Parts: sequence; structure tokens; C-alpha cells
Amino acid sequence: MGFSEKHIAVIGGGLGGMSFMNAALYTGLEHVQLYEQAPQFAEVGAGVNITSNANRVLDAFGLGEIIMRRSSRQLPSYMEYRQYKTGEYLAQINEFSRPPARLLHRAHLLDALKERVPSSKINLSKRLVSIEYEAGALSAPYTLHFEDGGVANADIVIGCDGIKSNVRQYMGFVDSPKYSGQVVYRGFVDYKDLPDETAQLLRRTVNFRGPKKHVLVLPIGNRETQKDRAAIIGFMTESLDLWESESWMSRSEISSFQEHVQDWCLQVQHIVAVRDPSKKWFHVKHGQRSSGVILLGDSAHSTLPHQGQGTCMAIESGIALAMILRHWAGEDIEAAFQFYQDLRKPRTDRVTQTSQEAGKLASSDSSNGMTEGFSPEVLIDRMRWIMEYDILEELRLKGAGALECSRFDKRRESLSSVL
Ligand SMILES: Cc1cc2nc3c(=O)[nH]c(=O)nc-3n(C[C@H](O)[C@H](O)[C@H](O)COP(=O)(O)OP(=O)(O)OC[C@H]3O[C@@H](n4cnc5c(N)ncnc54)[C@H](O)[C@@H]3O)c2cc1C
Repeated sequence: MGFSEKHIAVIGGGLGGMSFMNAALYTGLEHVQLYEQAPQFAEVGAGVNITSNANRVLDAFGLGEIIMRRSSRQLPSYMEYRQYKTGEYLAQINEFSRPPARLLHRAHLLDALKERVPSSKINLSKRLVSIEYEAGALSAPYTLHFEDGGVANADIVIGCDGIKSNVRQYMGFVDSPKYSGQVVYRGFVDYKDLPDETAQLLRRTVNFRGPKKHVLVLPIGNRETQKDRAAIIGFMTESLDLWESESWMSRSEISSFQEHVQDWCLQVQHIVAVRDPSKKWFHVKHGQRSSGVILLGDSAHSTLPHQGQGTCMAIESGIALAMILRHWAGEDIEAAFQFYQDLRKPRTDRVTQTSQEAGKLASSDSSNGMTEGFSPEVLIDRMRWIMEYDILEELRLKGAGALECSRFDKRRESLSSVL
């Protein structure tokens, strides 16, 4: 009995669709096919908190261990509340249910949900564009039309295609969503990038409560698998007029979030601090795909724009790398890359840091456009070390021995004459 002989089409392979696929396996529904528009599974956003009600179901599916491998463990409380400006402890809710909440990266939850679903049941790059229904058909009355021209038939269609669901529209729902007044900024911070004390504090679920805004920190993942990070979810009251994008989801500069929380406590400042996106700009492992790969420009040292240095740094790095590659006195590419990184990183890190400070100085804190203690001379002094730097001179000094200097000097002369 039941509908186990029916052909079921699941539209959307997000957390909802993939949960259903596991439920289908668990219950023994065999004729189920999932259609996901994306070419591969991906979850954007930050962490997700799965509470006992759902964990009991996931455990029944036999996914408990797989999920625990990827999720946080033994958190001291369900949620701790702190004052937004001082960071002072306000209250907490202790874990009140079992199994306790599991916090993990959304993509890791999706991975876990994928683990047991046979790939023969998953159809990627299948964006549903319309559904046709043949009244009176003896079986599979629904014809699904996909963007790539493909079609599929089904007896039952399950719309798991998210908040802007096509399936929902097909069903005749006309939505006129109202803006809640808040936008959500989502991202991650690695614990190793935070000062020790802040990292320790944020290994628990903390809600920094501010006026009409709050920042939620979820400690996702665990240390054993080295997948532990703080997921940051900032709920900020914002006028829709500020939005340039029509999309419900878009990438944002960290500076927009920083503006919202500029007078918040130190821990929140640590969270939103701009940091170097990558510790290592190259990767050398013999025979590996990325063996001769190195970064330059924003991929290695992106910075806020307040000192106008992003391209300038790329230009400096460009000449440095070209010179090193051209004149390296040896054949050890790893040593050459390391030299390039050691030469450039301290400077680009400092530019990144001072650009953030410059952003604060760029705004005024009074209605006449001035800031207490504001002095253009100070700004000039702040920039002098950037402007007066000579990359070629530094290469010459630091490259002695590593670079073939005679050729290097000739090259330098010809560059100088061009300049
Ligand atoms: C800031 C924030 C924090 C949250 N935190 C939590 C939390 O801690 N715990 C929790 O339980 N929930 C949380 N949620 C809610 C949770 O994220 C959603 O409820 C959940 O992701 C919904 O999953 P879904 O699969 O229904 O939709 P989606 O995740 O939107 O997935 C829809 C899928 O359908 C695909 N799709 C769309 N259109 C088509 C089409 N035409 N054809 C084919 N495929 C299509 C999409 O590509 C996507 O893969 C949070 C939400 C937000 C915004």
C-alpha cells in the first residue's frame, strides 16, 4: 500500500531536498529522483544549528555519527547572551534537550546528507522551468521541463526549491513578501585568526545583543577534524534603500558590516577585523596540480580601498615576482616562491591593516564633516611609508645571493630609464 510504486520528483537539493532523500531511503521509497539546478551541491551561508528534534530524526536515519564527525561537541550552554558594547555577560540558556544541539557548517551538513543517497537518484544542472499536467493520464501525469531542454515525468512532485520556489508558483501561490527590516550578514572566522581570549570565548554560542541588531556566533565543527570555526551571523536593521542588488542574497563588503558594529565590544571588533585572506600564497608539492601555482594581487593580499593600494600592491608584487622568476639563481621553485612571499607579505599585511584604520579616519564624527583631532598632515604621514617605498631597491638589497645580480642590475637600470 501507500505510494511506494509512484515516481517521485524532488525539486531542489538544498538541506530540505536532501533531508527528504534520506527520509525516502529510510522509509524505503524507491522511485525517487532529485533535480537540482546547480551543477554541484553547494550551501552558502554560515553555520547551522540542528536541535534535538531534528537530531533524533537524523539519528534514526543512521546519520548521527557522520554528522557528529563534522559538528561541535559538548558546548557549555545552548546560548549565552552578552552586552553588545561592553561584551559583558548577561544571561544564558542551558542545553535543555537531548541529543544536544549540533552546530556545523551548512556545507558539511549537506555532505552528511549526501553520503548515503545513491548518485543514480541525483540529477544536477536541472533547473525546473515549468510543470505540465495531463489530466486523465493513467500514470505520471506531471511532465517537468528543465532549462536544458530535458524533461522528466513524475506522479508526485515535491518542491524543495527554496524561498523563491517555482513549484510554489506553479501551485498558484502569489507571494508579496514584506521586508522584515533586517538583513543578515553571514561569514566565518578561523579561531587561529582571533586573539586567544576572544577565540576561547567564542568557542561557545554567544549572542551579542545590541539595539535592533544582534550578532550571533556559532562555534561550528570540531578540533579533531580541524574544521572548527566561528560562524558569524549578524542581524542588522537596515533600510532597503541602501540595497543596490535585487537579489535576496548577495556578497557584501566587510566594511558594510563593520559600519553597523563600529562601537561594539572588542570581541566583535576582533570578529570583523580584516585579515589576510591567505597565510600562504603558494603550494609546492611535487607532482601535484597546484605545484607551480602562486597568488598575486587580491587573491593574495586583498585590502580595503581606503588607501587606494590594491592595484598598487598588485603592481609591486607583479614586478617582484617577475624579477624573481627571471633572475632566481637556482632551480628550486619553492625557495623562489618563499622568497617572494617573505619579501611581499609583511608590506601587504601592513597595508591591509592601515587601510582599515584609514577607513575609520576617512569618516567624520560630527555634522560639520570634521572629526575631533582631524589633521590632513597626519594622513600624509600615515601614507608616507607606502609612497616612498622602492620595490626594486628592496629586491636588490634582499635578493643579493638569491638573484643573479649582474643581470638583475642591468634590468633595474633599464627599468629606471623607462621610468
Ligand atoms: C541567517 C540564517 C540562519 C539560519 N540558521 C538556521 C539554523 O541555525 N537552523 C536551522 O534549522 N535553520 C536555519 N535557517 C533556515 C534554513 O537555512 C532554511 O530553512 C533551509 O536552508 C531551507 O532549506 P531548503 O532546502 O528548503 O531551501 P534552500 O536551502 O533554499 O534550497 C533550495 C534548493 O533548491 C534549488 N532550486 C531552486 N530553484 C530550483 C529550480 N527551479 N530547479 C531546481 N532546483 C532549484 C536551489 O539551488 C537550492 O539548492 C537559517 C536561515 C538563515 C537565513
